Order: sequence, then structure tokens, then C-alpha cells
Amino acid sequence: MKQYRIFIDGQWCDPVGGRWFESFDPYTARPWALIPECGQADVALAVAAARRAFDSGRWSRMRPTERGALLRNLGDLLGESADALAAIETRDNGKRLPDAQAQLRSLPAYLHYYAGLADKIEGAVIPIDRADTFNYTQWEPYGVVAAITAWNSPLMLLVWKLAPALAAGNALVVKPSEHASASTLELMHLVARSGLPPGVVNVVTGSGEAVGRPLVDAPDVARVSFTGSVEVGRAIAAQAALQVKRVTLELGGKSPQLVFADADLRQAVNGVASGIFASNGQSCVAGSRLLIEASVHDAFLRLLCAAIRGLRFGDPADPATQVAPIANEPQFRRILRYIDIAKAEGATCVAGGAAVELPAGGWFVEPTIFTGVTPEMRIAREEVFGPVLAVIPFANDDGALALANDSALGLAAGVWTTDLRRAFRFAGALRAGTVYVNNYRGVAPQSPAGGYKQSGYGRENGLEGIREYLQLKSVWMGLGDVPASFE
Ligand code: NAD
Repeated sequence: MKQYRIFIDGQWCDPVGGRWFESFDPYTARPWALIPECGQADVALAVAAARRAFDSGRWSRMRPTERGALLRNLGDLLGESADALAAIETRDNGKRLPDAQAQLRSLPAYLHYYAGLADKIEGAVIPIDRADTFNYTQWEPYGVVAAITAWNSPLMLLVWKLAPALAAGNALVVKPSEHASASTLELMHLVARSGLPPGVVNVVTGSGEAVGRPLVDAPDVARVSFTGSVEVGRAIAAQAALQVKRVTLELGGKSPQLVFADADLRQAVNGVASGIFASNGQSCVAGSRLLIEASVHDAFLRLLCAAIRGLRFGDPADPATQVAPIANEPQFRRILRYIDIAKAEGATCVAGGAAVELPAGGWFVEPTIFTGVTPEMRIAREEVFGPVLAVIPFANDDGALALANDSALGLAAGVWTTDLRRAFRFAGALRAGTVYVNNYRGVAPQSPAGGYKQSGYGRENGLEGIREYLQLKSVWMGLGDVPASFE
């Protein structure tokens, strides 16, 4: 079994407590790697290293073009290692290798995008009504940023934080999910080779309680960026509030896909099927609620069920595999629990609905579709984070909009229609951070992503992405005589 070490101050080290935990291969349900089990002492060391690196100015005060060049270099290194990292990701969280490769190969562009922004962080000269005072603003990094990530796409979620936070001049302490830490640790080999000064990026591994909590609590952590569940995001925000620490929250979704009768139904079937079944629905923007115009309900369901019939389950590293395992055992159990809940609440299972046993022994679940779902059912309201689709019919546009917005979450929404006016109307009226029309699931370095409502706040990617890691200072430069009175 591969035994990993943590990365602090540019050095590979063992955890202070001298303990490791097992990381499982979801295809075999067997351990394949040992991950350091860190605790408060490791967090303290990592935060201190990041603080020293930041205070030294060797990164934050480096010439911005140089900072950009080093980030670009890291992006290039990541590009060269994308397939090797994808293989590790596949082993650790069960993502299909072609999907992991596509994701990893897309990541250099994010580092390149923010590398280009590193020397374009501009303040403003503010024309206040005082001729004897020169007022201007400047954007400054926070200092030490804690980046806490989920297991579904560890390196993508990390690069979305790392690239803008570093371009802005911050130092980082990263905590990946205990269910998929390997790729984050592997990335540190590239960080070490990229020329970034030691201590600018540090990684500690372990559970949310033992590592995540003390990290958020550390007084020297000035800013927290979190991707994960609503439940944990809420707890982190409450905890950070005690020190009035700013937090970015990228949380879960229960994203609706609205299919109108006038849509190109074949295109919509592909978009809806991949929206919920790609990566087994373990995607924050998974389109887990299908809102379908009643007149095409039956025809659409026939096409959708046909699209997922006879899919090949298997080894995620085999390019011929169409359905990969669920990423970890707790998630596997959670998905099966939700399937039971949906059945008990009276929804009709028209496809899938069960676990699949393969000789290798991993955690497989059939792509599952429930019809007859009503908006009150838990399957319509709560994020499953699995290959489970809840189908609800609607009669007209107003009904569709009401159903779509009837959610505590608001990460994304999809609209399938050929009516241009309806497309724009819904793009405006849907309460979600991202709206896709006649496409779904796209992400790009240039386009901001984030949540409405309880799906979180703050944005990743795009110009807004770097603002999350910068604070604004207003400077008043007195140019006149010192005033004679206290007025
Ligand atoms: P999770 O909330 O259980 O864990 C996320 C991370 O938080 C892990 O690293 C975990 O160890 C850590 N953590 C747990 N308790 C903590 C605490 N008290 N303090 C600090 N850190 C703590 O989520 P998960 O199961 O890893 O991921 C699935 C969730 O992530 C889903 O809800 C999904 O929608 C969401 N997600 C959102 C996005 C997005 O961009 N909006 C992207 C991917 C995943």
C-alpha cells in the first residue's frame, strides 16, 4: 500500500501523532493507500508555516509578473501530469478514467487564467471633495487562507481555490476530504517543482473534526474557502463568525432541469441523463429534479429510460466502463437510504433502484429514476448526491417556475426549450447561481460559479473569483497643512 506524507513548509513530513488511516479503492472496496491522520498539532505547524511564508513577503510582495509566471509554470506542470493524476483520482474516488482525464486536463487553464490576473489587481483613484487629500484604494491579500474541499472532484475544487488565492498573494493551508486525499498530496510534488516558495502551499489530511475544525479556528487563518455539504458549511460559517472571519461557501444543490414540450427532446434527454448520471450524480450541479411538461412526460421518460438501459458497470480505469462505482461507502449507504425513503414516500421507481454487485466487490448503484414525485417528498427537496432522479410534471410556465424555485437550495438550473423569449424569461427568473439553457454542466475559468440561497455565497472562477481572496483598503494621503483645530 502506498503510504503518503503531509506537506508543510515545502517539506514532506509524518503526522505528529504518527498515525495513518486507510483510503479505499471504490471499485474493490479495499484499502489501497495510507493517508496521514493529522490533528491540531499538524494544523498548528501548517498554519505557522503559511504565516511565516506570507509575512516574509517572498510571495505576497514578489513582483506580480513573477508571481504570475510561477503560477503559469504550475499550470504547465499540471498539464504534463494530468493523466497520471487522473489515474490516482480514479483509484481513490472511482471517477471514470476518461472523466478524470478530461477534468484534470482542463485544470491548467484555471492556473493560466489567474496567472494572467496576478499583475492586473488594480485599485482606483477616488475623486473625493477635498483638494488637499489624495484618496486611493488598493486590493491586498488576506494572509493565510484555509481551503477545505469535498471528495467528488478533489483537484478541480482545489485548483478553483488555489489559483485565485495564490494569484492574489495569499498563502494556503489545504485540507482535502478524508475520503479522497491522495491526488491533493500528489499535486504538492508539482507545487514543490514549480518554484513557489516553501510554505506558500501546505497540506494537512484527516477528518473534519480533527483537522478541519482547528483549521477554521486558527487565529492566523484569515480567510476560509469551503466546498462541501450545506450542513458542514453552515457549521463552518457559524464557527468562523466567532472571529468575524470571512468564508466562501460552495455548497450542495437540488438543481432542477426544466424540459418544455417544444424542446429538442433528443438533446434534452442527453442533457438530463448526463446531468444526473455522469459521475453517478456526485456533482454539485447534478440536475436531480426533472421538471417535465405534462404533455411530453411519458414520451420523454421512455427516451430517458432507454438511454440508461444496458449500461456497462465496471472498473473505472477501463475506458469501456459506463457506470463507475460510488466514491465511498458512507455515500453508497446514503444513496441506498434515499432510494428506500423515496419508495416509502410513495414515489414510483421506473428505472434502477438497487445496488449492483460485481465480482470486484465495489460500491455500485443503478442509475435510478422516480416518477410520481410530489414537491413535499424528501427526494424532491434534499440533495442525494447520487444517481437518483426525481421527476415532477408541470402544466404551464408559471407552474414550472414555481416548482423550480420551491427549494432551499439554488446552485444551478437547466432549461430545455426552443422558445427564445421563454429562455430569457427563465434565465432571469430562476433563483440559482448558474442557469444553463439547452446545455448543462459546463464550467470555465472565465465564468463565475456559486450558489443562491443555501447553496452558499461567494463566487469561484472569473474576475469575481480573485476578489474572494483580496480585501480593499482606502488610503487618505494628506497633502495640505495640518489643521489648527480639532473640528
Ligand atoms: P462534507 O461537507 O461532508 O465535507 C467537506 C469537507 O469538509 C471535507 O474535507 C470534510 O473533512 C470537511 N469538514 C467536515 N466537517 C468539518 C468541520 N466541522 N470543520 C471543517 N471542515 C469540516 O462534504 P462531502 O461529503 O465531502 O462533499 C459532498 C458535498 O459537497 C455535497 O453536498 C456537494 O453538493 C458539495 N459540493 C459542492 C460543490 C460546489 O461547488 N458548490 C462542489 C462539489 C461538492
